[in-house]
Amino acid sequence: MEKEVRVRFAPSPTGALHIGGLRTALYNFLFARKMGGKMLLRIEDTDQNRFVPGAEEYILESLAWVGIQIDEGPQQGGPYGPYKQSERKQSYKQFALKLVEEGNAYYAFDTPEELEQMRERLSAAKVVSPQYNAITRATMKNSLTLPEDEVKARLASGEPYVIRLKVPRKEEVRLNDLVRGWVMWHSSQIDDKVLMKSDGMPTYHLANVVDDHEMKITHVIRGEEWLPSAPVHVLLYKFLGWENEMPQFAHLPLLLKPDGNGKLSKRDAEKHGFSIFPLQWKDPLTGETASGFREDGYLPDALVNFLVFLGWNPGTQQEIFSMEELIKAFSIERIGKSGTKFDINKAKWFNQQYLKTKTDKELSQYLLNDLKNKNISCNPERAERICAVMKERVTFPGDFWNEGKYFFEEPVAYDEGIVSSKWTNEAVLIISEFKDAIKEQKNIGAEQAKITLNEILEKNQVKIGKVLQALRLAVTGTGAGPDLMQIIEILGKDETVRRIDKALAILNSKVKV
Ligand code: GLU
Repeated sequence: MEKEVRVRFAPSPTGALHIGGLRTALYNFLFARKMGGKMLLRIEDTDQNRFVPGAEEYILESLAWVGIQIDEGPQQGGPYGPYKQSERKQSYKQFALKLVEEGNAYYAFDTPEELEQMRERLSAAKVVSPQYNAITRATMKNSLTLPEDEVKARLASGEPYVIRLKVPRKEEVRLNDLVRGWVMWHSSQIDDKVLMKSDGMPTYHLANVVDDHEMKITHVIRGEEWLPSAPVHVLLYKFLGWENEMPQFAHLPLLLKPDGNGKLSKRDAEKHGFSIFPLQWKDPLTGETASGFREDGYLPDALVNFLVFLGWNPGTQQEIFSMEELIKAFSIERIGKSGTKFDINKAKWFNQQYLKTKTDKELSQYLLNDLKNKNISCNPERAERICAVMKERVTFPGDFWNEGKYFFEEPVAYDEGIVSSKWTNEAVLIISEFKDAIKEQKNIGAEQAKITLNEILEKNQVKIGKVLQALRLAVTGTGAGPDLMQIIEILGKDETVRRIDKALAILNSKVKV
């Protein structure tokens, strides 16, 4: 029988979940569902110094918001719990001790000052990246250099120590990554990583490998930034005797800056005015608030669709995928190796597509909500009509209000650029006649308004292009928007006439006509 696929998302609660982290979670989830396997959430909180209150809740809320379901985790429980590393402390130490006993790890007693001196010594000798490794360990205070009695005495006296991995001196470490193929490291590139810290807590490397093994993880799907840790993990699997049960690895490509020049950072997001967090995040330490996709007005389905394409493609032209469709289409083979540019315009495009699929009634809820917050009343049918007219032009739910304010408030200012280029004698003539004509009618529908305008244009031998923007300006105060005749219909005869009168009075006194 095929082994059940078991994957995990293993974030550290050190702050807001980065959008790249959410992509990792998504790929894990899709793969688990596709393979009929299990998706685990494991909170990697062994680094107490980096613990940030609220971060774990933030992660859970982000996953839930985009529809990533967890099968086993701190909330769901499961057969291999607890799913929080701080609650699994006891199990790590025995493995660290086993490694020491079998000669694959050792105790090190060096003080921070001594480590610093070593680094300085190596830097002075022009060593590019000073490491605690097969060569330098011989000059340090550890159970490989000190006499056995002294080691015992130091341990018995309660002197602080760490346990370090004994990386073999000359060995090739290889990994057949599902995305990158064979990756190779020479052991001289790897340093003797700390596995247990002096506070008795395991480091990421030890806890991660032990837990992946104990939780029977079959595939480790994670960001490329963890690739340099992979050889350490490969060595740990080997030394712990788990080589044959090692999970398969898939390291996901980096998310790059919009111009493709380097890794995407919070600073790029600030510079270009977009979010790189799924939800708004208020840093409890600094009090700073960073924006989130949810608060920016992205729909969760649109964000999922945007994220999945950052590193994966279906091999077809199809772009819009529901979660169900993604589960069917997803495969690790179609994950690319090279970094993907983060193009926020693509995210906006997806959002537009998803908004368009909603009914006018659904869309009107966004508008009605905004109106309620502003204490503006509007009957639901009118809100629906406004949304129907604006639908093709909106990117975010908030745009119905932001771009359609003029449905509720008469213009208080007029776009200067349009005034100077389009408010001409000709336009004023047509607009005045148009107003007089609709005044005579009982009410004005879009079709009727159009016919009326065309008749006046024809009579005066003026082309519509010379007038339309000025008329829009008079009615809405802006130079662009959805079909003007529809706007006029929604505003109604009286309001349209009033607005045109006002514009004629204000603009004609300002501009030489
Ligand atoms: N705790 C690591 C993180 O914060 C997990 C990396 C891994 O998946 O191995 O992303």
